[in-house]
Amino acid sequence: MDTYENYIAGRWVASAKTLDVINPSDGTKMAEISRGGAAEIDAAVLAGHAARKGPWGKMDAVSRGRLLLRMAELIRRDAEKLARLESDDVGKPTALALADVVVCARYFEYYGTAADKVHGETIPFQSGFTVMTFYEPHGVTAHIVPWNYPLQMTGRSVAPSLAMGNAIVLKPAEDTSLTALALATLAQEAGFPPGVFNVVTGLGEEAGAALSAHPGIGHISFTGSREVGRLVQTAAAKSTIPVTLELGGKSPQIVFSDAPLEEAGATIVTGIVRNAGQTCSAGSRVLIQDNVYDEFTGQLAKRFKELRVGSANQDLDLGPVVNAAQRTRIESYLDIARRDKLQILAEGSFGINLPSGGYYVKPTLIGNVPANHVLAQEEIFGPVLAALRFRDEEDAVRIANDTPYGLVAGVWTSNLGRSMRLSRSIEAGQVFVNNYGAGGGVELPFGGVKGSGFGREKGFEALYGFGVLKTVTIRHEL
Ligand code: NAD
Repeated sequence: MDTYENYIAGRWVASAKTLDVINPSDGTKMAEISRGGAAEIDAAVLAGHAARKGPWGKMDAVSRGRLLLRMAELIRRDAEKLARLESDDVGKPTALALADVVVCARYFEYYGTAADKVHGETIPFQSGFTVMTFYEPHGVTAHIVPWNYPLQMTGRSVAPSLAMGNAIVLKPAEDTSLTALALATLAQEAGFPPGVFNVVTGLGEEAGAALSAHPGIGHISFTGSREVGRLVQTAAAKSTIPVTLELGGKSPQIVFSDAPLEEAGATIVTGIVRNAGQTCSAGSRVLIQDNVYDEFTGQLAKRFKELRVGSANQDLDLGPVVNAAQRTRIESYLDIARRDKLQILAEGSFGINLPSGGYYVKPTLIGNVPANHVLAQEEIFGPVLAALRFRDEEDAVRIANDTPYGLVAGVWTSNLGRSMRLSRSIEAGQVFVNNYGAGGGVELPFGGVKGSGFGREKGFEALYGFGVLKTVTIRHEL
C-alpha cells in the first residue's frame, strides 16, 4: 500500500502522523497520506519565499508560460494514470475523471499562453510626469481546494497564480489528495524550481487552518463550503490579506413553456447528476412554468428512472458519493422530503454487482417543492433535483433569486427579449441561456454573488486576481 508524503521545497517530506485514504466505491483503505500541520505549512511558505528570491522571482513571463505549457503536456501524457487515480480516490466514473484531466491540462495551457499577455498601462497625468502600472505577484499564494473535482479545482486555482509569478502552497482536501501529489511530481519534471509548487496534505482544521492564518501568505484562494469559507476569511482578515471565496450554490434551471423541452430535459438531468450531484454549479432546482409542469416533470422522471449507479470503474451514470458523511447528509434531506410528504417523482437504480461497503445514493427527483422549503433553499450536494412551479417571468425571477446563494443559473426559452431580461435580473455569477456548461469553461470568468462567495476564477479575469497592481509615477522634468 502506498504512503504519500508532503511535497515541500522540491522534496518529499513525511509528517509524524498519517491519514487513511478510503476508496468510496467499496469503503476499503487504498493508501495513506501525511497528516501535515502547522510545521509543514510553515516550511512550505518559507520554501515559497526562498523560491521567489531565486530563479523563479527573476524568470521572465515567457519562460514561466513555457513551464506551464510543459506541465499541460505532461498532464496529457499521464492522462490515463491520473484519471484512474482520481476515479479511485473520488469515486467518479472513469470517463468523467478523464474529462477532468483534460480540463486540468487546459488550465495550464490557457494560463501558460496568457502569462506574457498581462500588462499594465500608462496614464495621462501632469506635464513632466510619466505614470505607469505593473501587475506584480502577491508572493506566496495559498490554495485550499475541495474534494469534488480535485484535479480541476487545483488547475483552476494554481495555474493562474503560477502564471503571474507567485509560488504556491496547495492544501488538497483530506479525502482526495492523491492527484495533487501526482501534479507535484509533474511540476518537478516540468522544471519548476524547488519551492515554487508545494503541497501539504492533512486535515482542514489543522493544515488548512494553519495555512489560512499564516502571516507569510499574500493571497488565499479558497474553494469549499460557506461555513469553512467564513473561517478562512476571518483568518485572512487578521493578516489583512485578500481572499477569493468560491463557495456553494443552489442554482436554478428556469424552464419556460416556449423552451426546447427535450434538449432542456437532457441537459438539466446531466447538470444535477454529474459527479453524483457533488458539483458547486449543479442545477439543483428546476423552476418550471405552470402550463408545461406536468409534461416536463414527466420527461425528467423518465430520464431519472433510466439512471444507473455503479462503482467508479463500472463507469455508469453515477458513481458513489465521496464518503459516509456525505451519504448520510444526502439521505437526511431525502428523509425530510418523505417526512414532509413531498412528491418523490422518480429514482434511479443501483446497477448489478455494486460493491458492498461503497457510499451509494440513488438519484432522486422531487416534485412540487415549495420555494421556501429546505430542499429548495439548502445545498444538498448530491443527486437530488427539486422541481418547483412558476406562473410568469416575474414569478420565475423572484423564486430564482430567493435563496442565500448566487452561483450559476440556466434559462430555457426561445424568446430573445426574455433571455436578455433574465440574464440581467438573475443574481448569479454566470447565466447560461439554452445550455448549461459551467463545469468545463476554462475561458469563462466564474464565481459567485451573495452566499456563493466573491472574486473570479477562470478566464483572463483570474490572472488579475493573482497579481497586485502597482502604480509608478516618474517626474522626468527636473
Ligand atoms: P469544505 O469547506 O469542507 O472543505 C474545503 C477545503 O477546506 C478542504 O481542503 C478542507 O480540508 C479545508 N478546510 C476545512 N476546514 C478548514 C479550516 N478550518 N480552515 C481552512 N481550511 C479548512 O468543502 P468540501 O466539503 O470539501 O466541498 C464541498 C463544498 O465546496 C460545497 O459547498 C461546494 O459547493 C463547494 N464548492 C464550490 C466550488 C466553486 O467553485 N464555487 C467548487 C467546488 C466546490
